Amino acid sequence: MKNHYDLLGIGIGPFHLSLAALMRKHEKARTLFLDQKSGFEWHSELMFSEADMQTSYLKDLVTPVDPTNPHSFLNFLVENGIFYSFMNTNRKVVTRIEFEQYCQWVSSKMNEGLKFNSSVESVSFKGDKFLIETSKETYTSTNLSIATGVQPRIPECALKHIGATVFHAKSSSLKSIDLTNKRVLIIGGGQTGVEVFTSAIQEKWGRVKNIRLISRRQNLEPLDESPFTNEYFSPSYVEDFFKLEQGHKEPIVKAQKLASDGNTPQYLEKLYNLLYQMKHVEKHPLDFKILPYRNLVDIRKTDSGYHAILENNFHHLHETLEADIIILSTGFCIGIPKIFDNIKDLLHFDEQGRFIIRRNFDLDWKGPSENKIYALNFSRHRHGISEPQTSLMAWRSATIINDMAGTEVYKINHTAPCFVQYGMLI
Ligand SMILES: Cc1cc2nc3c(=O)[nH]c(=O)nc-3n(C[C@H](O)[C@H](O)[C@H](O)COP(=O)(O)OP(=O)(O)OC[C@H]3O[C@@H](n4cnc5c(N)ncnc54)[C@H](O)[C@@H]3O)c2cc1C
Repeated sequence: MKNHYDLLGIGIGPFHLSLAALMRKHEKARTLFLDQKSGFEWHSELMFSEADMQTSYLKDLVTPVDPTNPHSFLNFLVENGIFYSFMNTNRKVVTRIEFEQYCQWVSSKMNEGLKFNSSVESVSFKGDKFLIETSKETYTSTNLSIATGVQPRIPECALKHIGATVFHAKSSSLKSIDLTNKRVLIIGGGQTGVEVFTSAIQEKWGRVKNIRLISRRQNLEPLDESPFTNEYFSPSYVEDFFKLEQGHKEPIVKAQKLASDGNTPQYLEKLYNLLYQMKHVEKHPLDFKILPYRNLVDIRKTDSGYHAILENNFHHLHETLEADIIILSTGFCIGIPKIFDNIKDLLHFDEQGRFIIRRNFDLDWKGPSENKIYALNFSRHRHGISEPQTSLMAWRSATIINDMAGTEVYKINHTAPCFVQYGMLI
């Protein structure tokens, strides 16, 4: 049947690209992945030239479960003739620009199974298959997979001001902004906030009048990349975590924040050095302040710009900052995609309205068990902190493929246990 697939994937970011690349071993499956963009792009609004990945290049789309797959990062280096040069860099991680180039290379190799310029508008279920509609075509599929990415998280008090002078960092406004002679306020001291701050003081968007970076955290806090912490990003930890009672999971994920959302330590070092060079060596007139312990509680429009009202949790009082431009680096959130409106009644949700995701990343739903809906990056609350990261994306793809095939296409159940034991003593 034309336009019918065993698995149709919505969204082509790294997570589905990994799934698509690993599908080659599940030869019988007919798969198609759709994306609204015209070609592979990875958070292009936030693509700063000096920004590094926070994950090793060996944890690429395929290598952790199949180093023989031709879509590995190493094969990308070899085919492009840059293997030896790359080795001479001594890098453990690549820049985000190079990771995007690698993904674009993989995507160009898999033309048949990927279709761009295809915005999915709705999903429904009839009889024994899903109907997936784009503006141009209708597809049917036995199984569905969704990896549509994250949405910018905007603080309530900023919502009514969103526009050319108050905006989230992941928006087109950042590309065209002119900060010359402006009072700039960045909200959020995570990696995105720090990258925007660094680019701004390097005059990427013109020379600012002054710049303030506020953060709720106690400081610009580094990512914890130590080996025992890194065990959170291993299949056996995820297995142990998944088995916990749901009520126990959230405090654990919260306590692990810096293992996934901290600032890259080398980046902080570079920023510190840059500030030292500018202020103490070059005597640069840069007027900057890094302001931790502050929570944005309101934004008020004034004749000349904005007043940002801050709750100072170090001194327990309120402060006001004046700004012309406010850049929100306030993170991202995951919601139930609108395209699921027609099948919402068939899905089960938890008390917070989130998907209930089973061990193999398929949704708990009322439809036939032969039809699965896989969801990628929707399960931090169920599978833990590795879920939004690239670290375990290949393992998750292999888990989904094994589940779909009903057999062990990928041998992923023989990884050594962690050194730290989380499972019960027996
Ligand atoms: C700036 C930034 C840097 C990051 N850096 C790292 C890092 O260094 N290491 C790490 O492990 N993780 C990192 N992450 C986290 C994570 O790896 C990324 O968010 C990753 O992009 C998630 O992949 P994805 O495929 O789920 O989503 P995305 O890459 O966001 O892709 C989703 C795709 O779905 C498409 N889409 C959405 N709706 C539709 C629709 N209705 N129809 C068709 N297509 C649709 C979009 O066009 C998009 O291309 C980073 C995240 C951000 C935001």
